[in-house]
Amino acid sequence: MANIILLGPPGAGKGTQAKRLVEERAMVQLSTGDMLREAKTSGTEMGRRVAEVMARGELVTDEIVIGLIAEKLASPAAGGFIFDGFPRTLTQADALGALLARTGQGLDAVIEMQVDDAALVARITGRYTCGSCGEVYHDQTRPSKVEGTCDVCGGHNMQRRADDNADALKTRLMEYYKKTSPLIGYYYAKGQLSSVDGLAEMDAVAAAVAKVLDKA
Ligand code: AMP
Repeated sequence: MANIILLGPPGAGKGTQAKRLVEERAMVQLSTGDMLREAKTSGTEMGRRVAEVMARGELVTDEIVIGLIAEKLASPAAGGFIFDGFPRTLTQADALGALLARTGQGLDAVIEMQVDDAALVARITGRYTCGSCGEVYHDQTRPSKVEGTCDVCGGHNMQRRADDNADALKTRLMEYYKKTSPLIGYYYAKGQLSSVDGLAEMDAVAAAVAKVLDKA
């Protein structure tokens, strides 16, 4: 059992790798982006405000996301947690350390997924997902076999994220460099950082991630 963070800019492949680890190692994926997208549909005032911030590509407040993660950590996962898209600020990183310590858990590895910006823009602007099962597709590199139909579950509910457009992506990248990339140094200094080439084939990235996990 290991608790790990997948760290990297939007479009680095964190969600894709997290889903594989859930299937292969019975780990539990904690994606604050997914949790916030769910909160958005709740119809509450908080949900509406979160939706606006996300659509612009800015970060939601530390208080909100730390609260979401704290709830999930109350019941430890047998296979370990994959933190996907959290922490995104130094405040969140400190809070995660404190929350894990308080619940008698630890952090076993931080895996940085390295990708260059040009690749990110191409990846994100073609991305769509099956709204029923969560399978991720791409217009150029991985289209579904039948347009509009999910290869995995047969659903007809393909969705594009509201923030997967050029304007919001620019803001998301700026936020990443300003607020999230300092975490690379933070975890390096703690001796917890490993880096993998996020531009390699999906299976090669998975193998590199597995190698880190097996040593953790
Ligand atoms: P993601 O699905 O991880 O790309 O997140 C989508 C959006 O949700 C981000 O652009 C932020 O607006 C918000 N978000 C997700 N995780 C966090 C976080 N840890 N801190 C602040 N905002 C977040």
